[in-house]
Amino acid sequence: MAYKTINPYTNELVKTYPNHDDAYVEKTLSKADALYHQWRNQPVKERTVLLQAVSDYFTAHTDELAKVLTIDMGKRLSEAKGEVAICAAIAQYYADHGEEMLQPQTIKSSAGEAREEKHPVGTLMMVEPWNFPYYQLMRVFAPNFAVGNPVVYKHASNTPASAAAFEEAVRNAGVPDGSCTNLFISYDQVSNVIADKRIHGVALTGSERAGKKVAAEAGQNLKKSTLELGGSDAFIVAEDANLEEVNKVATSARLYNAGQVCTSSKRFIITENHYDEFLAALKKSFAQVKWGDPMDDATTLAPLCTVSAKEKLQAQVDDAIANGATLEYGNQPIDHPGNFFEPTILTNITRDNPAYFTEFFGPVAQVYKVKDDAAAIKLANDSDYGLGGVVFAGNPKHGAEIASQIETGQVFVNTYFGTLPELPFGGVKNSGYGRELGHLGINEFVNNELVVVN
Ligand code: NAP
Repeated sequence: MAYKTINPYTNELVKTYPNHDDAYVEKTLSKADALYHQWRNQPVKERTVLLQAVSDYFTAHTDELAKVLTIDMGKRLSEAKGEVAICAAIAQYYADHGEEMLQPQTIKSSAGEAREEKHPVGTLMMVEPWNFPYYQLMRVFAPNFAVGNPVVYKHASNTPASAAAFEEAVRNAGVPDGSCTNLFISYDQVSNVIADKRIHGVALTGSERAGKKVAAEAGQNLKKSTLELGGSDAFIVAEDANLEEVNKVATSARLYNAGQVCTSSKRFIITENHYDEFLAALKKSFAQVKWGDPMDDATTLAPLCTVSAKEKLQAQVDDAIANGATLEYGNQPIDHPGNFFEPTILTNITRDNPAYFTEFFGPVAQVYKVKDDAAAIKLANDSDYGLGGVVFAGNPKHGAEIASQIETGQVFVNTYFGTLPELPFGGVKNSGYGRELGHLGINEFVNNELVVVN
């Protein structure tokens, strides 16, 4: 597989990166393993201090790090700066709280003085996607650095500059060689790394296809995995919702990062008293979107990451319409060499339309009309995915009651939030298992060693 940056705005090749050979992989694993054994005997504080340095480095180098993201995968520069900022915040969060989170816990027991100590497990293999190239890495690297688990990673083949820039950034910030290493390797080499005895856990963010393959390999080798996969999140507008508040966030909940977000609102489920007004407002708002150069602050919609991502989305929209969906807005070609896709709205998607169960990874909104709140919950749960979700309700308590009935990993009531360091992130059903971030994320790859003293 070729690791190369093709600028999504121009579709010109920027740079090709040679693959790492097996000897490099061997050297990397050996260094990481040695570091793990050294870290086992060091206080957590020695690493959390370095996480503070990582946070400071990301903040101080925001502009240059952000530009790499924009050229690599096309996101708007302002969104790229936001991604660098959230990375700095994650490193800061574990710098501040890592030591406390990893304290031994005492257990009341008739067996004697019992405590659960939190030890590292060893080096982890990460497989990560291109949509938030730094953030996906930081979500795993920062908590595990605090724990004492080194990481090696295979990043998406279309974001190699970001993969290399992340490694360089954390090294420049002062983390020891071997603690976080980028590998430009093939799928076969990934399999070999997972099977290697020095690897003790696997974290993947990406598609169901990749998740199944990589998790199966981890399972065959008796290694724990976490999977952060796709989503088709519901955005419920309840009967008592305040539509003014809804309209403030609906467009960005779908179009942020050109709609290429696992927790984007992809299915707008609107109670019938609000439906016409909501649809009219969404069309108006989509019509105001300004596609263009992602480096330009005036641009509000960036190109998709690759030609093939655009082709896939087009095929999904065509197929949805061929199966009876109504095209309410968009889907017109944009005459530009970049991978632009006009914001699109589809309605009348019936349960026998393949689109009903499909994740649209781009600026396409599915809008559903339902009779009442109970029907909204039923439709929200009629999905193979369960990653995130949004509920708008006039009464927040009522919104929270609806939220609790949704089979998903995270729900936001009367607001839409991408992510925050303290909030555990992850899903159920085909959206995967395990959590990243927050107190749950730091505990995924920890040996909770029980010590009982009589
Ligand atoms: P993808 O094809 O699965 O790629 C993700 C990563 O997996 C890439 O590094 C890819 O490498 C690698 N990969 C794919 N097949 C592999 C294999 N057989 N063996 C080893 N590595 C393999 O994902 P995508 O379609 O580009 O990304 C979008 C998907 O990720 C969406 O479904 C989205 O919802 C999901 N996502 C989930 C979250 C979350 O937190 N839940 C966050 C972001 C994205 P190559 O690039 O070299 O193929």
